[in-house]
Amino acid sequence: MDVSDIFDNLNEAQRQAVTSESAHLLVLAGAGSGKTRVIAHRVAWLVKALKNSPHSLLTVTFTNKAANEMKGRIESLIGQDMADFWCGTFHGIAHRLLRRHWKEASLRKEFAILDSEDQYRVIKRVCKSMGLDETKWPAKQIQWYINKEKDECRRANQSEAGNDYFIEQMTKVYLEYEQLCERESLVDFGELLLRTLILLSTNQDLLSHYQKRFKHILVDEFQDTNEVQYQLLFLLKGKESSYTAVGDDDQSIYGWRGAKSDNINRFTQDFSGTDIVRLEQNYRSTQTILDAANSVIKNNQSRMGKELWTNQKEGEKISIYSAYNEDDEARYVVGTIQSWADQGRALDETAILYRSNAQSRALEEVILREGLPYRIYGGQRFYERVEIKNAMAYIRLIYGREDDAAFERVINLPPRGIGTKTLDVIRKKAKEENYSLWKASCDLIKNDGLTSRARGSLSRFMKDLENLQTEIENLELKKVVDHTIQRSGLIEYHKKEAGEKGRTRVENLAELVSAAGDFEPELEDEETPILKSFIDHAALDAGEEQAEEHESAIQLMTLHSAKGLEFPLVLITGFEENLFPHRLSIAEPGQLEEERRLCYVGMTRAMEKLCIIHAEMRNLHGMETFNPPSRFLREIPPELTVEIRTGGAVSRKSFEAKGIIVQGEIPETDLVLGQRVVHEVFGEGVILNYEGHGANARVEVNFDSSETKWLMASYAKLRPI
Ligand code: ATP
Ligand code: MG
Repeated sequence: MDVSDIFDNLNEAQRQAVTSESAHLLVLAGAGSGKTRVIAHRVAWLVKALKNSPHSLLTVTFTNKAANEMKGRIESLIGQDMADFWCGTFHGIAHRLLRRHWKEASLRKEFAILDSEDQYRVIKRVCKSMGLDETKWPAKQIQWYINKEKDECRRANQSEAGNDYFIEQMTKVYLEYEQLCERESLVDFGELLLRTLILLSTNQDLLSHYQKRFKHILVDEFQDTNEVQYQLLFLLKGKESSYTAVGDDDQSIYGWRGAKSDNINRFTQDFSGTDIVRLEQNYRSTQTILDAANSVIKNNQSRMGKELWTNQKEGEKISIYSAYNEDDEARYVVGTIQSWADQGRALDETAILYRSNAQSRALEEVILREGLPYRIYGGQRFYERVEIKNAMAYIRLIYGREDDAAFERVINLPPRGIGTKTLDVIRKKAKEENYSLWKASCDLIKNDGLTSRARGSLSRFMKDLENLQTEIENLELKKVVDHTIQRSGLIEYHKKEAGEKGRTRVENLAELVSAAGDFEPELEDEETPILKSFIDHAALDAGEEQAEEHESAIQLMTLHSAKGLEFPLVLITGFEENLFPHRLSIAEPGQLEEERRLCYVGMTRAMEKLCIIHAEMRNLHGMETFNPPSRFLREIPPELTVEIRTGGAVSRKSFEAKGIIVQGEIPETDLVLGQRVVHEVFGEGVILNYEGHGANARVEVNFDSSETKWLMASYAKLRPI
């Protein structure tokens, strides 16, 4: 392979970035301009042309999938195996460091990773033991608080409550939670990062080892780094290390999880000698798609500001479909994909994007009905499915009896007559004695601490597990998983569940056996038993909002998890006020801008064709909602769009004529937007909008029988239904 091959398909600015010899490099550029490509080619350049060992490079990507793709791309570029090359997410890399240096990090060798759901359960348990009222102190909120503190590098004893009762209370739970995790050697996602930061900052030898080792550190999606990640990068900076950060402030979409796009500015200050390269040519999208995305993002105040251009043809106009409801939306989406496939195009070229996971259900139903293959990324990833987590809990317990989260999950699953009362007794004992639930159960059985029925069930459960352990000894991983699933009774249990659901669950359990068969541990993990590597793999994977590889299938995912990806055909659904932008973000300018960036991310995923769909009525979370089209729709110049159907009540034109979108209660009336009302002459309808107030208030009603009408609220005598 020739070094000059690395330059093939790079433009001048990209080439400059790839070969930059300045102390540090920041590539600041819009979507689809080749930032990720620059990282891959720069690594190739560093190895091939400058003869750096892959061992001395560290590349941070946003997802595991991106890391695998990156590695593959580099290997094919230089025709060399990159075995010793560290390329992964912040979490993945932190995990690696903690596994290697568990002792220095004051962990047990077999420490367990808590995914978000496990963490929630543990926090719930802590709250319960502290006697906190769940209604006043919801575990979800406490979980959010703890994670935010960790993202900001604060331990419980570093929180500053001042006179704030709320924070004081949260901190108490945080402290208890911290102690429990310490006792049981549990590590949540935030902890992976914070603990690594502390490990390195308190261990000079270790720190200088890694500072010397990593000559080049390259970070993709830099705009979405949070405080602890930034600190970690900064800490790793040695005398000779050189950093490459690539990012786009317009694509910072994880502010709600503590990401700070301001880290971009900070970088140029903290890493002196930084060369800034801007890329302005977009290689991904048609001119139309790019123009539309640019016009939307222009509405944000706080941005560094950049324009993208493309050499690509103008392309198709953006389709806007005004659906009647979510079923109609799903039918349109699937129909569009089917005609795409009828033209000989592949299904995996298509992606359906949505703001919240719950929206996938209606889409899935239609896709299933049509018998099309699909893959959901995000919320319902394979390792997040309940049946998989149950099976994994058995496997975790076999590996280590101290795993309380796993113990709680399966102690009565399949049901074996061990109720919450018994579990409470066990928990209490464990807390008193400061040991695991398993040990507590052993002692309670020995010392007659339980009713005889509970004792019987519990000791049977425990004995079964012990037997299982003996049976699987010396079996290969696949057989271990297979055997465990069979013997746990989970298959029988799910078989009894009604219909499709039970069947899918059984299928998924079977899939877990194949997953175990295919599993290959990371190269550097030779010391860790394969069962443990598999457990960690499942936990890390479940925590990631990203995709797995699949042969040609429609891809469904949230807008958040679409970051960094590209598809020839993209359909963005639920383009409605209160859904997108999200209801909670509308009042906050900063959050509204983050929603707009999310919109920009979504639109710029499309290469050839973009469709935007909004529904007049939507059943979501068990409630009927009526929302006007998203304000982002108005930010797209009409000449770039084509309306597919205007039969619906809220046509784009009527919507535009109305100006500002309003929501919620209509002042000085007893009417509410979205409410169903009845009119003497026109019959039943739904309130879509209003103008003015008091005696001058006018409301817009979409009547079932005819079209939309504006009526004086004071004369119309609308009665709520
Ligand atoms: P995002 O902001 O969405 O992460 P990005 O800036 O990382 O985008 P890439 O994913 O690296 O952009 O590149 C976008 C697309 O353009 C890819 O398909 C890539 O292969 C292609 N591309 C980038 N640069 C060139 C080039 N010089 N010649 C041809 N194709 C290119
Ligand atoms: Mg990228």
